[in-house]
Amino acid sequence: MPTIIPQLTIGAVDLGAAFLFMYGLKRMSSPVTAPSGIMVAGVGMAVAVLASFLYAFDVGAAARPHLMVNLGLAVLALALGGGVAWWSGRKVAMTAMPQMVAIYNGMGGGAAAAIAAVELFGDKPDGVTQLTVTLIGALIGAVSLSGSLVAWAKLDGVIKGPLRVRGQQVFNALVMAATLAVGGYIVAATHGVVASPLATPDLIWLFLGCALAFGVLMTLPIGGADMPVVISIYNAFTGLAVGLEGFVLQNPALMIAGMVVGAAGTLLTLLMAKAMNRSVGNILFTNFGVAPRHVQGDIKGSLKPVEASDAGIFMRYAASVIIVPGYGLAVAQGQQKLYEFVKLLQAAGVSVKFAVHPVAGRMPGQMDVLLAEAGVPYDMIFQLEDINDEFATTDVALVIGANDVVNPAARTDKSSPIFGMPILNADKAKKVYVVKRGEGKGYAGIVNALFYGDNCDMVYGDAAAVLTKMIEAVRALGSKAAA
Ligand code: NDP
Repeated sequence: MPTIIPQLTIGAVDLGAAFLFMYGLKRMSSPVTAPSGIMVAGVGMAVAVLASFLYAFDVGAAARPHLMVNLGLAVLALALGGGVAWWSGRKVAMTAMPQMVAIYNGMGGGAAAAIAAVELFGDKPDGVTQLTVTLIGALIGAVSLSGSLVAWAKLDGVIKGPLRVRGQQVFNALVMAATLAVGGYIVAATHGVVASPLATPDLIWLFLGCALAFGVLMTLPIGGADMPVVISIYNAFTGLAVGLEGFVLQNPALMIAGMVVGAAGTLLTLLMAKAMNRSVGNILFTNFGVAPRHVQGDIKGSLKPVEASDAGIFMRYAASVIIVPGYGLAVAQGQQKLYEFVKLLQAAGVSVKFAVHPVAGRMPGQMDVLLAEAGVPYDMIFQLEDINDEFATTDVALVIGANDVVNPAARTDKSSPIFGMPILNADKAKKVYVVKRGEGKGYAGIVNALFYGDNCDMVYGDAAAVLTKMIEAVRALGSKAAA
């Protein structure tokens, strides 16, 4: 087949795939259309992958004898990778999703770095620009790979807590400077500007080693509460690395997909940083989420436990209830029970709304997905800025498995690690019920003054179990009235 036909076909298919990526991404902006958006983008990716097999018609004479083996290896890699992803995607728990995103993202960065390594070791990049772009792609991809793996290990509890030593930031800066210096040296040595005592492959190994080490060093000191933002940054890095390697390979699908991922990752990073009222630099280079500075002694008042049934009945007679779901609801998988309880309240004439904080749970949008899973109508779900003023005029705030996102210390206490983060004003409601298992802290590891407030009662227990009791209590009330 003449070369031009596969090239034209690949170009046309890549353009179609790019359209599907964009359209899929657009549909992901609403929980209603997100599932179909994911399917559309997935079809785009599958089409682009299949079209890449057309390159088989365009290989040089030297590669032709290896064609069948290489095609076999590509199919094997696709089957293995696709199979593992399918299996792990189906079995992963909702609460373990951030770890999964971290590891998949790391694989993307690693793939980009591997492409760059093949190009570099194969001596292929032509000219200073091509070589520099390949090196930058390798650097960003390698940092994303090792950094994402550390992020995964932290979220999965394999690495416990941030690891910090004096002078760490300076040391990290020196490692980055050394990586850049080695990269610059490779460019200069390859083009005969300087004579290198080391062979180019040795320099490339050194460069990749420094980049991987930097990813590890940069991520180790970052606290757990900042890990989602860090994963989002690495997501943007991976996209950029893939885009740059697409440029090197002159592959439009890689360029477009990489840039889309890079832009989406960057925007998500900025949105999350905004939701926490912090700058990205502050997240990466300060010690958020370290030893809690708040001790119980700082807080006045006491914890007041009440029975789930009493809290349920109180809400049954309230005029308005705002529910604040948090990470604990996902742990308990209590979303179905919660909606069952809400329907009982609504049937009794109570106005019920859901207030969702942008960083509630362990990944952006987790609460929206959880509530959608239970069939909660979207017009009952409100984002922070749309509902925060309503708490002051609401009878009951039901905080269920949430903690940091309703911690008033964020508003007033400059010494708090979450100071400045916008929070849901649950404490301003006339009455607050907090459902949690015991005195466990939230992700930021700090005590919450809301729980000790005069207007707040604690309903201890697993969220699903507590909701079951609330449902039984309200139902029993209904049957007594009927009898
Ligand atoms: P938190 O982590 O602050 O609090 C969760 C609370 O749920 C805990 O205090 C825990 O208390 C309780 N809990 C745990 N299991 C159960 C259960 N089975 N039943 C009832 N309660 C339970 O959650 P929030 O959603 O309020 O805040 C999210 C935090 O996570 C923020 O600090 C945010 O920055 C961070 N983060 C956010 C991400 C995102 O993108 N959304 C990702 C990663 C981190 P107890 O043990 O006593 O039950």
